Amino acid sequence: MATGSINVSVENIFPLIKKFLYSDHEIFLRELISNATDATLKLKHLTSIGEVNVEYGDPRIEIKIDKEKKQLHIIDQGIGMTAEEVEKYINQVAFSGAEEFLEKYKDSAKDSGIIGHFGLGFYSAFMVAEKVEIITKSYKDEPAAHWICDGSPTYSLEAHDKTERGTEIILHISEEDTEFLEDSRINELLVKYNKFMPVAIKFGTKTETLPKPEDAKEEDPAPTQEVDNIINNPNPAWTKQPTDLKDEDYKGFYRELYPMQFEEPLFNIHLNVDYPFNLTGILYFPKLGQDMSMQKDRIQLYQNQVFVTDNVEGIVPEFLTMLRGVIDSPDIPLNVSRSYLQADGNVKKISSYITRKVADKLSSLFKNDRADFEQKWNDIKVVIEYGMLSEDKFFEKAEKFAVYPTVDDTFFTFEELQEKIKDTQTDKDGKLVILYASNKDDQHSYITAAKDKGYEVLLLDSPIVSHLIQKLEASKENISFARVDGDHIDNLIKKDEETISKLSDEEKEALKTDLEKVVPKEKYTVQLEAMDSNASPFIITQPEFMRRMKEMQQTGGGGGMFGMGAMPEMYNLIVNTNHELIGQIKDTKTDKKKERLIKQSLDLARLSQNLLKGEELTDFIKRSYEMIK
Ligand code: ADP
Repeated sequence: MATGSINVSVENIFPLIKKFLYSDHEIFLRELISNATDATLKLKHLTSIGEVNVEYGDPRIEIKIDKEKKQLHIIDQGIGMTAEEVEKYINQVAFSGAEEFLEKYKDSAKDSGIIGHFGLGFYSAFMVAEKVEIITKSYKDEPAAHWICDGSPTYSLEAHDKTERGTEIILHISEEDTEFLEDSRINELLVKYNKFMPVAIKFGTKTETLPKPEDAKEEDPAPTQEVDNIINNPNPAWTKQPTDLKDEDYKGFYRELYPMQFEEPLFNIHLNVDYPFNLTGILYFPKLGQDMSMQKDRIQLYQNQVFVTDNVEGIVPEFLTMLRGVIDSPDIPLNVSRSYLQADGNVKKISSYITRKVADKLSSLFKNDRADFEQKWNDIKVVIEYGMLSEDKFFEKAEKFAVYPTVDDTFFTFEELQEKIKDTQTDKDGKLVILYASNKDDQHSYITAAKDKGYEVLLLDSPIVSHLIQKLEASKENISFARVDGDHIDNLIKKDEETISKLSDEEKEALKTDLEKVVPKEKYTVQLEAMDSNASPFIITQPEFMRRMKEMQQTGGGGGMFGMGAMPEMYNLIVNTNHELIGQIKDTKTDKKKERLIKQSLDLARLSQNLLKGEELTDFIKRSYEMIK
């Protein structure tokens, strides 16, 4: 028997490992299974190139719990190690790696943005075990070796009588980590980290029902048999070629990834690139609707089929984190902080590759089946609009497929829209006026008024629409957006002839004075306008600029500029001097009656804008009953 001292300068690195990596304890299992997988795949490679002449067979990795002895076993049928190799790879390589890692980690731990998962390797076993044994038999014709280390820098190494090829790691689970002796906990970890690893992983057995024999009686129970319980699917869809997959396969894989998700994805994007970086994966567009909140089922990041994290922030552009699916890339550095990650050249390339693939997919969907694309628009628009806002490259590409629906469900591209309204919707300076509504019910009367005049009204109802409009106005020449209730249509769009007012200038002057006596100045600016006699007498509008700034403040991205507190509620009260009621108000003799008419009209206008609430609404209702009784 040989004993020795592991060559580390830190007095005892194991307590340190435990302390530093506390929150990541559970990853020890992923690391050990990764080693077992590597050992198995190495053997596969050696046999495939004819270097080694052994039966590769159908190897699996087995996880076993021995509750009584408080042991967890990880057993593989891979390449194994000779005693010499244990000396070399475990005592020297693995532990010098450990030391190096700790050196690095001590500093970076201060950066809270650190990615919580590292390639810790073998020594992560000491996060949960007070003693670790390795029993290993190389494929070479040499005796098996038995290595034991109890967490101090000394170890023992002796021969063992194991005859089957492969390695068994035995963890003597420490007192504070007994959760890892529970079947349910281990099962949870295997499903989380190892669900798609390339070598079959066995954990216990399960009962399988077999078909009944032909001559069985009705009441005979179906026969059963005990079979290995295999945790993983070693050939997940993303590792296959897109040409080998049908729509059903993609949907099936979605269900495998998110078993609790009952809604089908809208479409998918298969990622597959090997230069200048390696990346495979499948992204899915879920039905998002208006929902921009953080998803529970997120994109999962793998490295060579080993789960790493479902926090892909920094790797995938932010607007695409709303998607679901898998990304697998060995080229993403993980033991670094997020800020460092974002500066990494490879990661930048990966991020722009993904953006490009998503844009290409959307563009081809739009081209190939526009009706279907339009039908899906409501469920995908938040991603597209958010992308247009946040990534200039994507904004350019989205030109081809971003659509703008009208309140009547006609979909225009921006170019088509411009073409459609270029002769009818311009303002005094010749700028195109794009009318839009954000809510068909709330703005019903305004929409109707605009449509009656033959104008197109878009329905833009995403939560970030005011930001997007701002961006569109800034990037395109000679256009402006105006919400239908932002101003009166006649003030927005140039008409061929002006409506002549029925009132003289003196009459207008007097009317304005009367109105301002009743209408609260701090909230409403009174404007007299000559309009069609059948347009409403009183119209309340909220200036576009004011409302948009308010909305942007609410949805963030106002950019500090408006950090000085909420903007005041200010409205315009547009009074149609050609309406019969206005004439009547003007001619009313007694002040009291005049005041009552104005008040009632103002309240009606407020009611139509949803601005009449609480006590004022109660008073208004009471007053109205009085009037009609
Ligand atoms: P890494 O896997 O990053 O190389 P580890 O610390 O996990 O580092 O392991 C060190 C070395 O020990 C491995 O490179 C491998 O040669 C050897 N090793 C670890 N586990 C096994 C195993 N189950 N079978 C064979 N060799 C192993």
